[in-house]
Amino acid sequence: MRGEIDKSLVSWRFRVRQLAVSFVDFVFPPVCASCGRAGTLLCETCVSAVSWMEEPICLRCGRTTSKTVAVCSVCRQYPLPLEKIRAAVLFVDPIPPVIHKLKYKGQFGLARPLADLMAQAWRRWQLTADLLVPVPLHPERERTRGYNQSALLVSHLAGALGIPAEMKALCRAKNTRPQVGLNAVERQENMRGAFTAVSPDVQGKNILLVDDVCTTGATLASAAEALLEAGANSVSAYCLARAIQT
Ligand SMILES: [Zn+2]
Ligand SMILES: [Zn+2]
Repeated sequence: MRGEIDKSLVSWRFRVRQLAVSFVDFVFPPVCASCGRAGTLLCETCVSAVSWMEEPICLRCGRTTSKTVAVCSVCRQYPLPLEKIRAAVLFVDPIPPVIHKLKYKGQFGLARPLADLMAQAWRRWQLTADLLVPVPLHPERERTRGYNQSALLVSHLAGALGIPAEMKALCRAKNTRPQVGLNAVERQENMRGAFTAVSPDVQGKNILLVDDVCTTGATLASAAEALLEAGANSVSAYCLARAIQT
């Protein structure tokens, strides 16, 4: 059901821990993950302050450009195996602390208002998609975190957009080091061979990869290569936020 978290996506140990948090929530109502205002996990004021991703962009990789182009200079130098990458919002205030809490502070309930932002921006991009596939975490990282934030986004988004999802299409075989601080070439190298496609359901499908943040697209490119190798017809990607690389 839309809005309900798919319990199978969150580990039971984590859910037990969350029960204690729910009790605290009952006594102290939820606060906005960005501004701290009481009432909802992401308040209306903060939602109205987000910077929506919009043109001018590179129509291929989706990065912000000075004028809209079919293929930007970066895409010409490093051709992507993806048809298109798009994001709902820019990774600027008020979004970064909210994503941080979703990923690192156990606030998995934030997946719902964040997926709502993605559903709202979807009308703008209208990407081809037969099947939604989350970018997986390495199993060890997922165990520690208790869930994969991208799978939670997919679970809400599938309901909102009416597109089926395959949660286990990909597996992350390589426990890559964090991409923060790496340049585009190092990111590509770090991600090489990181994923394998494990579901036959991807064959002949137009896949839409879903992730929380996209910077250079190296992670998405590596995941796309695995899906294409497994027989996917095409791969595009839709991310919650686009980080501007400095
Ligand atoms: Zn707020
Ligand atoms: Zn580009």
